[in-house]
Amino acid sequence: MVEAKEQEKFEIYSTSICPVCQRRIPMRIYEEDGVIYLEKTCPEHKEFEDVYWGDAELYKWFFKNWYTARYVGDGLENPHTGIMKGCPYDCGLCPQHKTHTVLGIIDVTNRCNMACPICFAYAGASNYVYEPSYSQIVEMIRNLTSNKPWACNSLQFSGGEPTLRNDLPDLIREAKKAGIRHVEVNSNGLRLAEDKEYFRTLKKAGMDTLYLQFDGLREEPCRKLRGRTDLVPIKEKVIENAREIGLKSIVLVVTLAKNVNDKDLGSIINYAVKNRDVVRCVNIQPISMAGRARKEEMREMRITIPDAIKLIEEQTQGAITRWDWRPVNWPVPVSKGMEILKSRTYPEFTMHPMCGAATFIVVEDDGSYKPITKIIDVDKFANTFWEVYYAGIRGEKTLAKTKLLNLLSLAKSDLIRGLVKNVVTKGSYEALGELMYKMVMIGIMHFQDVWNMDLDRVQKCAIHYATPDGKIRSFCTYNSLHRNDVEKQFAVSISEWTSKTGRKVNEPV
Ligand code: SF4
Ligand code: SF4
Repeated sequence: MVEAKEQEKFEIYSTSICPVCQRRIPMRIYEEDGVIYLEKTCPEHKEFEDVYWGDAELYKWFFKNWYTARYVGDGLENPHTGIMKGCPYDCGLCPQHKTHTVLGIIDVTNRCNMACPICFAYAGASNYVYEPSYSQIVEMIRNLTSNKPWACNSLQFSGGEPTLRNDLPDLIREAKKAGIRHVEVNSNGLRLAEDKEYFRTLKKAGMDTLYLQFDGLREEPCRKLRGRTDLVPIKEKVIENAREIGLKSIVLVVTLAKNVNDKDLGSIINYAVKNRDVVRCVNIQPISMAGRARKEEMREMRITIPDAIKLIEEQTQGAITRWDWRPVNWPVPVSKGMEILKSRTYPEFTMHPMCGAATFIVVEDDGSYKPITKIIDVDKFANTFWEVYYAGIRGEKTLAKTKLLNLLSLAKSDLIRGLVKNVVTKGSYEALGELMYKMVMIGIMHFQDVWNMDLDRVQKCAIHYATPDGKIRSFCTYNSLHRNDVEKQFAVSISEWTSKTGRKVNEPV
């Protein structure tokens, strides 16, 4: 548990792991020259330093207002593992985990039709094929939907490149059959650009969103990140195909690397706005670090959430400022208030505020846009939901409903007033979807690696991998610690796979 210490410069303590031997070690998080750093010492492998958050002012604002949340998640009523070695080795989800699964992820293959220099997970690099069977995937879906009290209802098929599986449409149908409301497919878009009929089949099967790898509109960053220089027209073709097949929900997923594509954020946002009939969201993911770097190099190479926020402020000429962002756990009071009003459970985004940040931009017909913070007081909005929640748990339902009506007075435009009303009265997933179609969301999530891992963050993670061993693990612990072991347990050699299928590993099967 983190303890805040009152003093001039910010300083708290948490727990991390040694990046070399992976033992649990204490971690100090502290302020220096306007930046938040971390330092940790392993008895065997000595000291490690890293940038935790690139801007102390934003960090302290998030920490003060959203860290000491009035509601901390309860995790699962039915954890899948026990407490044996402690976090992060008991994943999971173990009884210590604090947040239920909001988004489940299933890797359906590690095969890929690209060979990105930044990826070490694809079959070509790992030298084996990890491809769970159809029935194993159905079981993983069942496992996610068995979570209590909130049965996961949002799922991403990922990989590798999931579109290399010809049975992906059937898997999407299985997810829908199991009660998953929102199914998304994470893809580099290669097959979707050239095979529109396959794309259509995914949509018909029930794919709600395409989570499209998109590193910008210049080929140079693509060459550095992906090792190819023909990707921009391919991504544009995917967008065109989506429009033709009627898919109106694409997330542009940007892997953000310092001195590679950090000058491209403004143009990517403009591109999303221009294509807002099909693009719902830009999701920016600062790149995770591999290898061992010295303290000065680490400080030089790291790009963190506030760095991206400041770049966006510069590159949108101040249209989206640093104060227009809120942390990933901002929706918690909305879920809790709605729970009182509708007497049902809602997904709880009780993640750590330093894991991610988001804003929405509301776009006018002429393409100009404003962040939602300029149209509605989002903090008063959230506070009203807290008031609804507290009135409700005191048994004052009438007061809760009165508080809710106050919400409408906060909206400064008819559009938002109408949409708020819709969400509040319907209280449904569809109503939220309708709200989303009027805006473009910009999100940033900084996934952790062994250098900056904060166990306080991973224990609150809401994005979870389901795996064939019957476990569900936090995204960041899975990728940093567990992935290799799990995959090897279920993998076959590339030669065994190719002789069984008669195909190359980068071909659709
Ligand atoms: S990350 Fe969560 S599930 Fe994994 S060991 Fe830690 S608390 Fe348990
Ligand atoms: S995936 Fe990683 S960065 Fe995102 S919420 Fe989970 S722990 Fe935080």
